[in-house]
Amino acid sequence: MIIAVDGPTASGKGTIARGLAAHYGLPYLDTGLLYRAVGRQVFIDGGDPDEAGDALAGTAFPDALLADPSLRSEETGGLASRVSIHPSVRQALYERQRKFAEQPGGAVLDGRDIATVIAPDADVKLFVTASVEARAERRWKEMRESGIEVSLDDIAQDIRARDERDANRAEAPLRVAEGAFVIDNSAMTREQALAAAIEAVEAARRG
Ligand code: C5P
Repeated sequence: MIIAVDGPTASGKGTIARGLAAHYGLPYLDTGLLYRAVGRQVFIDGGDPDEAGDALAGTAFPDALLADPSLRSEETGGLASRVSIHPSVRQALYERQRKFAEQPGGAVLDGRDIATVIAPDADVKLFVTASVEARAERRWKEMRESGIEVSLDDIAQDIRARDERDANRAEAPLRVAEGAFVIDNSAMTREQALAAAIEAVEAARRG
């Protein structure tokens, strides 16, 4: 069973995807991490993330980079969003994601274009979203807990900018795939959101 989980930044899609993977005993791939690694590699190389050639060179990042905690930062998220605009970068990462999706027994993948590009054949397609305010507040709390002082307004602004870039790019823009089940978790706890996702998977399995 292939489960595709798409959604905007800080929507809680990672939490849901990881929860589904644990529930169904499936391997999980956070595809955002691949784009983050590319963005980080371009930074390390001193390249320009807006330049297609430099961004493509970043796709040769070493696997060890995927475990680097710096990939989780807001700054790297912004770089990821910039390199992900280039079609050559998306093409370079396609095969790796496709192979993961095709492994025997299935997999859970989360990202922006899983149900539309990487695995349009997915058995279950979920689109996880929440209001900008709810997402900004969650991100803000997370950052405060890890000792990072930022303003809620700055985070909301950053989230809007990333939404805009992800939804309006020419190649593989973020959108709800046909047949996808939308979970708006603005007013849900993590547990409620995961329960809604499991319910959607069960409904899809029943056909
Ligand atoms: O999900 P995450 O915030 O880690 O993703 C970082 C950035 O990578 C996103 O803002 C998006 O621009 C890009 N991305 C993408 N396609 C994916 C996953 C992430 O374009 N499948």
